[in-house]
Amino acid sequence: MSEPTGGNHGNHGNDVVVVGAGMGALATSARLAAAGRRVTVVERGDTYGGAVGRLERDGFAFDTGPGVLHLPAVWRDLFLKTAPRVKGRRNAGELAECVRLDRLADPAIEHRFADGTVLRLPGFSPGGVRRALDETLGAGSGERWGALLGRAREAWEATRRPLLEEPLTSAGERGALSRDPFPARRRGLLRRREPTLAELAAAELRDGRLASVLTGLVQEYGLDPRRAPASAAVLAYVEGTFGSWYPAGGMRALADALFRRCRERGVRFEFGVGVDEVLAAEGRAAGVRLADGGTVAADAVVWGAARPGDEAVGLGRFSLFVALDGPRPEGAAHRAVLHGEGPAVSVLRPDDAALWPGRDGHTAVVSGLVPAHGPGGVDWTAPGVAEAHAGRLLDAADAAGLVPRARVRWRLSRTPADVARDTGVPGGVVRPPALAGADGAFLAAPNTGRLAGAYRVGGLAHPGGGLAHAGMSGALAAGLIVEGPDWRGSY
Ligand SMILES: Cc1cc2nc3c(=O)[nH]c(=O)nc-3n(C[C@H](O)[C@H](O)[C@H](O)COP(=O)(O)OP(=O)(O)OC[C@H]3O[C@@H](n4cnc5c(N)ncnc54)[C@H](O)[C@@H]3O)c2cc1C
Repeated sequence: MSEPTGGNHGNHGNDVVVVGAGMGALATSARLAAAGRRVTVVERGDTYGGAVGRLERDGFAFDTGPGVLHLPAVWRDLFLKTAPRVKGRRNAGELAECVRLDRLADPAIEHRFADGTVLRLPGFSPGGVRRALDETLGAGSGERWGALLGRAREAWEATRRPLLEEPLTSAGERGALSRDPFPARRRGLLRRREPTLAELAAAELRDGRLASVLTGLVQEYGLDPRRAPASAAVLAYVEGTFGSWYPAGGMRALADALFRRCRERGVRFEFGVGVDEVLAAEGRAAGVRLADGGTVAADAVVWGAARPGDEAVGLGRFSLFVALDGPRPEGAAHRAVLHGEGPAVSVLRPDDAALWPGRDGHTAVVSGLVPAHGPGGVDWTAPGVAEAHAGRLLDAADAAGLVPRARVRWRLSRTPADVARDTGVPGGVVRPPALAGADGAFLAAPNTGRLAGAYRVGGLAHPGGGLAHAGMSGALAAGLIVEGPDWRGSY
C-alpha cells in the first residue's frame, strides 16, 4: 500500500482509485469493494451515472442516455455478487430487489416504413416474430430473418467468451478477434472480403424494409451499418433472445441502484474534481493527480472515462426530449423505429407514470445517429444547427403520428456537444459494443494500461460501449485486480 503523497484527498489509504463515476466505473467499484478492496471514485461532475443521466422539468422526466436495457444478466450478476450478506435471506440484495425491471410489453418494437407499412414485433417469441414478418412484409420474410439470426447465434457463441468474458490486455492480442465470425452462407467458399452489415442485410434479407429492420437496430448502438462488420448482427440476436427491458422510473433507476450498492459496500466518492493523470512510482501506477493539484495515492488506478489523447471516433446521437399534452395513447408501443431517408429515427414512449406530471401529460424521446461534435463532424453549438436537426426529427415523428406537433408542450434538444461536455467523451460519440471482424477495427482499448496497476473500463475500453458492455468491462478490470494480471475470465 503506497502512502498518500499530496495528502489533501483520499488520505484514508486506497487500494484502488477509480476515475469517473460512469456505469463501467461504478460496476468495477462495487465489485472491488465487495472483494474487500478500499475504493475511492473521483468524478469531475456533480453526479454519478455519466451518460445515464436524467433531465427533469415541470414534472416531466427523461433518460438522457439509453432508454432500453439489453442483456440484464450483466447487472443481475453484479447485484448478486456484490450483495451484502443478510443472515437467513439467500437472495437479499439481488437486482430484482433494487430495481423493478419489466420486459417491454408487446409489441416490444414497432417499425414504420416510408411506404406506410407498420410492422409490430413481439418480444421473446422467435415464432411470433417470424409470423409477424410473413404477415406484414410477405411470405418468406420470417424464414430469411430466422436464417440470418441463426447464423448470428453461431457468431455469438463463437466469440462470446474471447470477445466479452475475457479481458483484452494488450493490443497485440487482437489476432483471433480480427476475423469476422459471422458464417458465410455457403461454407467452403472463399469470400472476396468480409461483407459489411448493410451488404449482408441487402443480400440475404432481400426486402429493403426487412434489411432496414436489421440495420436500424444496430444504429441504436452507435454503429454505421455501412461500415460495421456482419458480426454486428449478433446485437439483433441478443435483443431477440434475451429481450428488451425497462427499469421502472427510467434507466436512471439502474444508476441510482448501482450508486447505492457502491455506497453500501463502502466505496468513497469525491465529486466535483477531475483527474489529470496517473502517477507512477517504481514503474507502477501509484495514484492520480487531480485538476486542483492534489493527489490520491493508490496501488491501482482504474480509468473509467476518456484518456487524454483519445480521439472522437464514431458517431453521436441527437436526442429530442418532448413533453406532450394529454395522456399517453392507449396501446402505444414503448419503442418505435422510423425508417426513411437517412439514419433510422428512434421514438421511445415509456408507459411509466413516474415520468409524467399527472394524467394530462406524457413524454417521448426522439433520437437518431448524427456526426460527432467538432472537427471532422459538425459544430453542434453553431447558431441554428441543433434547432434545424430537432425540427427534422420532430417532423419525422409527427408524420408517423407518434409525436403530434399540436400536442408538444415543450421540447429540449441534446446534441453530441452536450454529451461531450457531460461525459468527457471526445466528440460526444456513442461508442458501440466491441465487434470481431474488420481486422480488429471495431475492438476497443485494452483493459490494462502500459503501466502495471493501471486499468481501463467503460465504453472506450474493451469490450466497448453500451450499457451491458460497460458493465462487463467493470467485471473484467475487477477480475484482473483481484485475481492478478494472468487472469483470463470469467469473474
Ligand atoms: C445519447 C446516448 C444514447 C445512448 N444509447 C444507448 C443505448 O441505446 N444502448 C446502450 O447500450 N448504450 C447506449 N449509450 C451508451 C451508454 O450509455 C454508455 O456506453 C455507458 O453508459 C457507459 O458509460 P461509461 O462507463 O463509458 O461512462 P460515461 O457515461 O462515459 O461517463 C464517464 C464519467 O467520467 C467522468 N469523467 C470524465 N473525465 C473525467 C476525469 N478526467 N476525471 C474525473 N471524471 C471524469 C464524466 O464526468 C462521466 O461522469 C448511449 C449513450 C449516449 C450518450
